[in-house]
Amino acid sequence: MLLSVIIPCYNEELVVQETYKRLSEVMGRTGMDYELVFINDGSQDQTFPMLCRLAQEDRAVKILNFSRNFGHQCAVTAGINNCNGDLAVIIDADLQDPPEVILDMLDIQKRENANVVYGVRKKREGESKFKLITAKYFYRTLNKLSDVQFPVDTGDFRLIDRKIIEEFNRLHEKNKYIRGLISWMGYKQVPCYYERKERFAGETKYPLKKMLKFASTGLLSFSKKPLKIALWTGLVSVLIGLIYALTILILKIVHPAFFVTGWTSIVFIVIFFGGIQLLTIGILGEYIGNLFDEAKDRPEYIINNKINF
Ligand code: UDP
Ligand code: MG
Repeated sequence: MLLSVIIPCYNEELVVQETYKRLSEVMGRTGMDYELVFINDGSQDQTFPMLCRLAQEDRAVKILNFSRNFGHQCAVTAGINNCNGDLAVIIDADLQDPPEVILDMLDIQKRENANVVYGVRKKREGESKFKLITAKYFYRTLNKLSDVQFPVDTGDFRLIDRKIIEEFNRLHEKNKYIRGLISWMGYKQVPCYYERKERFAGETKYPLKKMLKFASTGLLSFSKKPLKIALWTGLVSVLIGLIYALTILILKIVHPAFFVTGWTSIVFIVIFFGGIQLLTIGILGEYIGNLFDEAKDRPEYIINNKINF
């Protein structure tokens, strides 16, 4: 039985050494054969040279070195595509997900004969209030809008088996929302509750801009409801428009003097309906943009070189 650990790294020079140490320790305790698949996602710091040194000393360390920064989801995708394990764990490099939890995940997997054991965050230490609140509402809103139900408060930290890996490798969509796709696959999926820790060192590599992009990817790839909302907003505004036109017509007939004023209402209407139009075009645009990405069919990531594979 081979266990692969998939670790995406972007500018993580302050943590990789410690991550390697903690992971190796935990892997030793599993008594399984293992490989540590580090994905260097175009880091500009010393992450890659440090990983190379580790790979020289330890054959279990394997590296996928990207040609540039492609993003966390692409890095995890590359890891899943290239790992050899019968089981694989996806884990962040920053030790926020404690490697020791992998032991619990393995136990649960064996006991329940599960295909997926996903980590559920009981508690999150050292995160900003903003991140906690936005994350909480994001997962719940997504569930409301989506046709598939996802477990809440769950990241990509999870254990998956060969079946899931093979199925995942058959997915060729571009803007992947990995945690959603794995839930969508079905099979037997069970939770593993854990406490998410503070980052070991360094800063988050998910600034607000990336977080928003990620949230929109999740929403757009699992829900067509925004399009429906746009449609309904359009219909309701047409209805309001018709009622208003009718009122004006009647007023014009019975009360012609009324029409001297009215600048405010016109401006209000122009802004309101203009806004609705832009909003709905924007929603359409997002979906068309995704179609555009699919049509171009570019690879999701480019691997510059592989080490120890
Ligand atoms: N990461 C990556 N590419 C990116 C951004 C992040 O590979 O473009 C990695 C990062 O090195 C870390 C994981 O994804 O291992 C999660 O990122 P981070 O801890 O910064 O996110 P947060 O936990 O703050 O949401
Ligand atoms: Mg983190």
